[in-house]
This record gives sequence, structure tokens and C-alpha cells, in this order.
Amino acid sequence: MNRLEEISASVVAHRSELADAEFRAAWRAWLEEHCDVQMLRPARRLAGAPLKAWLRKLNVHGWRAPGWPREHGGMGLSFAKQLIYREELERLGVTRWLDLGETLLGPMLMRHGTQEQKATLLPRILDCSDFWCQGYSEPNAGSDLASLRTTAVRDGDDFIVNGQKIWTTFVQDATHIFTLVRTGRYERRQQGISFLLIDIETPGITRRGIRNIAGDSEFGEVFFDDVRVPSSQLLGTLDEGWTIAKSLLEFERTSIGSPFLADLALKMLNSLAERCGIADDPVFAARMKGFASELDVARLLYADLCGRFVAGEKLDSEFSMMKLVSTELFQRTAEYAVEVLTPYQAGHHDQPTRVLFEELNHLYLISRPVTIFGGTSEVQRDIISRSLLAV
Ligand SMILES: Cc1cc2nc3c(=O)[nH]c(=O)nc-3n(C[C@H](O)[C@H](O)[C@H](O)COP(=O)(O)OP(=O)(O)OC[C@H]3O[C@@H](n4cnc5c(N)ncnc54)[C@H](O)[C@@H]3O)c2cc1C
Repeated sequence: MNRLEEISASVVAHRSELADAEFRAAWRAWLEEHCDVQMLRPARRLAGAPLKAWLRKLNVHGWRAPGWPREHGGMGLSFAKQLIYREELERLGVTRWLDLGETLLGPMLMRHGTQEQKATLLPRILDCSDFWCQGYSEPNAGSDLASLRTTAVRDGDDFIVNGQKIWTTFVQDATHIFTLVRTGRYERRQQGISFLLIDIETPGITRRGIRNIAGDSEFGEVFFDDVRVPSSQLLGTLDEGWTIAKSLLEFERTSIGSPFLADLALKMLNSLAERCGIADDPVFAARMKGFASELDVARLLYADLCGRFVAGEKLDSEFSMMKLVSTELFQRTAEYAVEVLTPYQAGHHDQPTRVLFEELNHLYLISRPVTIFGGTSEVQRDIISRSLLAV
């Protein structure tokens, strides 16, 4: 560890030991100082170079990886402080970001990685030398992930990988991909799958972007054509990657289950309704009360389940419930907002109202896929009903 890293580590240690109110004040002050106007667009999500620059800035200033333990270079925050960390971002309206290395792969490396994998890969996630994307879905293996067909065949000290992944978020920005591949024979389809870590610049890999409904190319396809991957890049045990795959999905549903976007949609709806003069309409006001009470339920559920998850409780269908409640509420709120407000859009030409409409329209577009990624709503209902009916 060099001198700068030592100083940064001691500041992080200090922050985790602050009283909650002091921690909140320190984080708030830092955000207010470092977020320029481009960083205050909560309906947007950072991507590309600005995303990496922001993550590096958080790292240098000791605000990176709030949930990671201190021994791995994270902030080691208690659950209460992690909620405060999030609350302050939401209060200020900071542009959202996603780093799958931090939120999904990091915890799996800590649980299943070799000493060498942890020592090399975790610091490279923190300083953004490596930026990871998730290669799970394939053209015929989405909800039914176990039917994946990308293969990795052992050849000396390497695996030779062939196949295709799709809907890979941030594939154009990524330096690496963590992926599920078929490595062995199986009786049950969940067997014979391994979890492989692959440098995306390896010869034989081709990436192709897919443009989404909002006009962004945030996801894409990845083709593997005789790609040679060292066997040291295997995470966990050969043929038993399904266990890692499943526990990673729990982390994914925890972050997707946040009611933040539903809250944002409701705030925008409120604010625009006032500007358009419909806030006092009794029918509108009744709908708003309905959304507000559903949001309260989503918030309570989220705080309760995340707290139990962090405390080590074994949860399963509860994640599905949380994902379902938050994402469907977000989608319905955004849909209603566009339905009632669009007729007023043309009549408002002042700059702040125009910007708000622009942001709302964007929010509506990004609300469409939330009931698909991380497991579709139908699949979540399946999981919940199986658990309730014990079938
Ligand atoms: C914005 C976005 C980002 C994504 N990012 C990534 C990523 O980074 N990495 C990655 O690996 N994947 C990613 N995905 C893929 C995502 O995980 C899949 O789209 C999702 O799992 C659904 O799979 P599918 O698209 O193959 O649909 P299918 O599984 O083919 O489903 C089609 C329809 O059938 C329904 N259905 C399927 N099975 C059942 C069932 N058993 N019971 C009832 N209904 C069912 C589904 O609900 C859906 O309506 C992303 C998707 C989106 C939209």
C-alpha cells in the first residue's frame, strides 16, 4: 500500500466510525462540493468515461464501495450508514450509477475467490482499472438461465470458450466479463455450469451494441469464437458455478429492489402537476395518495429485507417480492405521469418545466425494462407462489 492509499484507508476507517448524523453531514458536504450540474440528473445514469471518472473520484476521496469490508478496501459501513449513503444521493438528486464489479462480482470474489484472485481483482475493481459486465443471458437462456449453451472446454491449462451472450449491460465500456459457461455433463441442467472471469480484449471476442428504446446503447451482444481463457480465471469449483450464479442474483435483486425510481417518478409527477395546475383535482389527488401509500410500503419492505440480508438471514422469495413491488410501482407511476401530463406538455415553454418534462419522458422510457431485467415479473411471481404454496 503506498502513502496515498494509506491515508485514504485511514479516512475510510474513520468515516465508518463516525456517529450516523456526523457521517450524513460529511457525505452531504462532500457531494455538494463535488457534484456539478451534470451530476444532478437523477433520471439519468452515468456511462462511459464520465462513469469511470466518477468512480475513481469516489475511490480517491474514500467514498467508494460503502458495503465492502474495510479489509478489502471498502468503507465497511454499517447497514444504517449504507442507507444514509443512499438517502443523501437521492435527497440531492445525484445522477445514478451502476458498477457491477462493485455490487455483484466483488461480493462473490470475497466469498468464493482464491487468495490470489481477491488480492489482484478487488483493488482493480475499486480503482476502476477493471470494469466488469455480466454475461449470463443468451438468446435462448434468459428466464430459463440453466438452458445456457456457451461452452468452455478444457485444453491444457486453458478453457476454450464458444458461444454467445446477449443483453449485456455496459458491454462497450467493460474491460472484463464474468460469465456462466457449460463445462461438464449433467443430470440436472443446473449442474455442469462454471463461473468464468474473462478479459474482454481476448482474441476471439466480438462485441456488438444494441440500441434501446431511449436511444442509448447501454447493452449489447458478445460473441465467443475459440476464446482461450486461463483456468486460473475460474471462480469457485468447476461445474458448480450455479451456486455462485444464484447468490449473485440475490445481490442483484437487492439493488434493483430499491424504491428510489418509484419515489423519483412520484416527485416528478407531483412537481409537474403543480406547474400544470392539476394538483388539486380530486381524482388526481386520490391517485397520488394511493401511490404515496404504496411507496411507503415499498420503502418499509426494502429497509426490512436489506437489514435482514445484511444481518445474514437466509432470504429467498422475499427478494422477488421486493423487486416486484418496487419495479411495478415505478412502472405504474411513470405510466400514469405520462398519461395525465402529456396533454399539458405543449402549453409549457418555460425552461425548468421543459427540462422536467424531458426528464419525465426519459424516466418513462427507462421504466419499461425494469420488470424484465434481474428476472421478469412473471418469473418473480412464480418464485413467490412456489414458496407460498411449497411446491
Ligand atoms: C435493460 C436490460 C438489461 C439487461 N442486462 C443484462 C446483463 O447485464 N446481463 C445479462 O446476463 N442479462 C441482462 N439482461 C437480460 C435479462 O436478464 C433477461 O432479459 C431476462 O432474464 C428475461 O429473459 P429473456 O429476455 O430471454 O425473456 P424470456 O425468458 O424469453 O421471457 C419471455 C417472456 O416469457 C415469460 N416467461 C418466461 N418464463 C416464464 C415462466 N416460467 N413463467 C411465466 N412466464 C415466463 C417472461 O416473463 C417474459 O414475459 C438485461 C435485460 C434488459 C431488458
